[in-house]
Amino acid sequence: SRFEEANLHEVMKENIRLAAYEVPTPVQKYSIPVITENYDLMACAQTGSGKTAAFLIPILSRLFGKAKKLAAPRPTQGSRKFKAEPLVLIIAPTRELATQIFDECRRFCYRSMMRPCVVYGGAETIPQKDELAKGCDVLTATPGRLNDFLDRGIISLRRVKFLVLDEADRMLDMGFEPEIRKIVQKSDILDDGTRQTLMFSATFPKSIRSLAKDFLADNHIFLT
Ligand code: AMP
Repeated sequence: SRFEEANLHEVMKENIRLAAYEVPTPVQKYSIPVITENYDLMACAQTGSGKTAAFLIPILSRLFGKAKKLAAPRPTQGSRKFKAEPLVLIIAPTRELATQIFDECRRFCYRSMMRPCVVYGGAETIPQKDELAKGCDVLTATPGRLNDFLDRGIISLRRVKFLVLDEADRMLDMGFEPEIRKIVQKSDILDDGTRQTLMFSATFPKSIRSLAKDFLADNHIFLT
């Protein structure tokens, strides 16, 4: 089957054509309908499987349909008091992975009203803050820097509708579990109480299954 047949927003179909993605990879074929149907998801996926597009395509496609209503206000000046309130939050273990995800966000947000941003540790905060202040609908972040910005009131998670934990097993291996739990607690405070959560992991040790139990809805889909 091809992307053309999927029930996706026209802007997304055009961006997929521009990316020259013709055939969905297996993880895309199975994840896209599940995410479109509003289920939480735990998916087994390795790097190189196309897992980034597997969550970005359905999430962004759904948001494009509501973009006028949902898009964040665009401050004309990079205002110091501006607080970023993303609709999509993608948490990744490393700067390299966060940057790769951000590149895919830019590709798929093209010609839409959604603006992507990325924040990660080991780099100056001011340029990242300045980018957030231009508007941030789709945020990719590493856990430490995200918590720093949350504590400083630069980012709020009250509008998050889609939360993605990418390479969850690697984040736990790196000792990020407390940071992740802190972040997820904050994104629970929502205006309308709805949040769709997606977890991607290459392995499924007990610690990952316990995170899934705590973060995902009881009727979540498990893709192996
Ligand atoms: P990922 O597993 O998300 O890191 O993606 C691995 C690489 O595959 C990235 O460079 C993507 O741009 C590319 N890719 C993802 N999905 C497709 C697709 N359906 N067709 C062709 N290339 C793809």
